[in-house]
Amino acid sequence: SDALLEIQNLKTYYPIRGGFFRRVVGNVKAVDDVSFTIKRGETLGLVGESGCGKSTTGRTILRLMKPTDGKVLFEGEDITNLSGARLQKARRDFQMIFQDPYASLNPMQMVGDIISEPILNYEKRDKKELKQYVKNLLKKVGLPEEAYYKYAHEFSGGQRQRIGIARALALNPKLIIADEPVSALDVSVQSQVLNLLKDLQEEFGLTYLFIAHDLSVVKHMSDRIGVMYLGNLVEVASNKDLYQEPLHPYTQALISAIPEPNPKLKKERIVLQGDVPSPANPPTGCPFHTRCPMAQEICSQEKPPLKEVKPGHHVACVLY
Ligand code: SF4
Ligand code: MG
Repeated sequence: SDALLEIQNLKTYYPIRGGFFRRVVGNVKAVDDVSFTIKRGETLGLVGESGCGKSTTGRTILRLMKPTDGKVLFEGEDITNLSGARLQKARRDFQMIFQDPYASLNPMQMVGDIISEPILNYEKRDKKELKQYVKNLLKKVGLPEEAYYKYAHEFSGGQRQRIGIARALALNPKLIIADEPVSALDVSVQSQVLNLLKDLQEEFGLTYLFIAHDLSVVKHMSDRIGVMYLGNLVEVASNKDLYQEPLHPYTQALISAIPEPNPKLKKERIVLQGDVPSPANPPTGCPFHTRCPMAQEICSQEKPPLKEVKPGHHVACVLY
């Protein structure tokens, strides 16, 4: 099959503890029954407001968190319950690029060592050969070879993110999960880093799960896009279909808020009322019904499943 990664009914709940004995008194349903597939070589964008569960989804796939329920299949193999050496081996094929290049790199470590570290965790390498390999990686991400001998704190934010990208590439991964990789960077360098990620994807045949709250960034990067709301995936479609013909009322509201420079194409902005409910106490029925301008009586009673309404276009809403 051409699926590299398949997520089936993934749930990741955090326990809430309370009272004198710190007993578990409830759950935060950070990810609540999410399913999707990523094909080899494509970029799937995951978009939604902060707290919608997109980062938790990424972290659960990497098994930085254990899922409460559901399955993660990688190249057809169920990796959900791997542990110890087998998990370590599977993890070689996934890497993460983090949001904050300031926090994710050790400022006291030489750049050459930062990038070599993941390799040395897995194999013994000839010192000279490894050094040359790392210097080549630095060139691939647009940094000079001499960066090898410097420290992370000597670089700008955009350059640090390039170091983070080189480290993610070091093990020649199959899947890269990029969690808001440019949102901490100056706007002026964001598109340079995004274009670098695209070039590297082509050169190394990478597959991306690209997580962001910014719809224009996701549009620039993704082949297909999933929209998350309150731990649920509410719509999945190709890039073109999602932006030209959004079906879910939440997606329609998000897209109506993107600034449109051409006044002729400007559509009316849909302003949502109220706040996102707490994932510790999500509404019954459709998770969006408390804010949906199209809500009907049934919406508070039954949770609509994500279903394919046109080829490749999935939506979770009773209107379809
Ligand atoms: Fe709105 Fe109902 Fe559709 Fe939910 S199911 S998005 S509340 S119309
Ligand atoms: Mg996040």
